Amino acid sequence: MKRIKIDEAILSANDLIARENRAIFDRHRALVLNIISAPGAGKTSLIRSTIEKLSDLRIVVIEGDITGSLDAQRLEDITPHILQINTGSACHLDARMIRSALDYLPPGPIDLILIENVGNLVCPAEFRVGEDHKIALISTAEGDDKPLKYPLLFQLASLLLINKIDLLPHTDFSIDRAIRWAGQINPKIETITLSCKTGEGLERWIEWISRHLNAKG
Ligand code: MG
Ligand code: ZN
Repeated sequence: MKRIKIDEAILSANDLIARENRAIFDRHRALVLNIISAPGAGKTSLIRSTIEKLSDLRIVVIEGDITGSLDAQRLEDITPHILQINTGSACHLDARMIRSALDYLPPGPIDLILIENVGNLVCPAEFRVGEDHKIALISTAEGDDKPLKYPLLFQLASLLLINKIDLLPHTDFSIDRAIRWAGQINPKIETITLSCKTGEGLERWIEWISRHLNAKG
């Protein structure tokens, strides 16, 4: 008798579709960033600021929510290119859900695809969707121990963004501790601190994107 471990079977089926997604992204020559955070860390604000700063680029946003389209509505005045996925009960986006959105991509080259995953630090990290990079986003309104508590995300992320640095005087969050703990889990992770509210640090995030756009050619 062969016992099938369901988790592994689901994940490898997911990875096959993620590879298909990757081929589609490559056809559009898009840099694809999968943005993962807990609810309320500022994913939508980050995406809004990014679109505003990179207004000369062709950007598509894929919004993942359990239900509704409130985040997409917050972006509608600055871009028409928003694809909304409602996951129903699932607390993450998987490759199949992304695949179903890709039929609606605008034709031709796309510079950047920003995926706003469902607010959750756990399983969004487990499901590859064909992205170039996972971006881990935390805010100073949370604990600086997030890297220790949710190590998989920080292990897989290329970049740690620490948002809401304007709130630092009012919280016990330590940037040093967060960076140290993230670095213990993933020595290669880069960190950028910023505030989507004041705009401080955003230029370093934009520079990071530009560097990776150039690397794609
Ligand atoms: Mg949001
Ligand atoms: Zn989930």
